[in-house]
Amino acid sequence: MKKQRICVDMDDTMCDTVGEHLARYNAEHGVNVLREQFHGQWLWDFVPEEHRPFLKKTMSCDDFFEDLDVFPHAVRVLERLQQHYEIYIATAAMIFPNSFASKYRWLQRHVPFISSDQYVYCGDKSILHADYLIDDIPGYLDRFMGQGVLFTQGHNVSNTKYPRVKDWLEVEEYFLPGGKARTESGVPRAEERPQD
Ligand SMILES: [Mg+2]
Repeated sequence: MKKQRICVDMDDTMCDTVGEHLARYNAEHGVNVLREQFHGQWLWDFVPEEHRPFLKKTMSCDDFFEDLDVFPHAVRVLERLQQHYEIYIATAAMIFPNSFASKYRWLQRHVPFISSDQYVYCGDKSILHADYLIDDIPGYLDRFMGQGVLFTQGHNVSNTKYPRVKDWLEVEEYFLPGGKARTESGVPRAEERPQD
């Protein structure tokens, strides 16, 4: 049987981009802004307008995307998913072209079992041809032809349009039977999940 295809976003889905952005912002400005303070919006929208150029400059640094923390269980679950699905990493890299090389190195280091043939650097993600897209940005899911799965982040908490996963244990639970996730949030199941 042909495997279904899942596209997986990187920033704030596989790795903690907001966390690194916030840490650099706090260090630069000598403040201690917490994630809870901008829950429901982007860091960009929370900071004073005069600080936004710093946020942009930070993401344009060559090393920014290199050392982002990988989310718990992401590597293990992706390795397991790849046994049952075609996995493609689909990242909107064009916004920060300096990120190309560092994103490549990050993927090689953290998910070496995913071939570089399965990396997709996108502008508009509506070009993706897949059954699922796991992403934290609802706007990308709106234009995606398959089933969107929203990876919970503070900026998307008000969106109710898509099935939601709050972490990689819930990704595992959504796509695979016998996952270790607890189903406290009642994650909807994919309709045709493969059997182990
Ligand atoms: Mg993202």
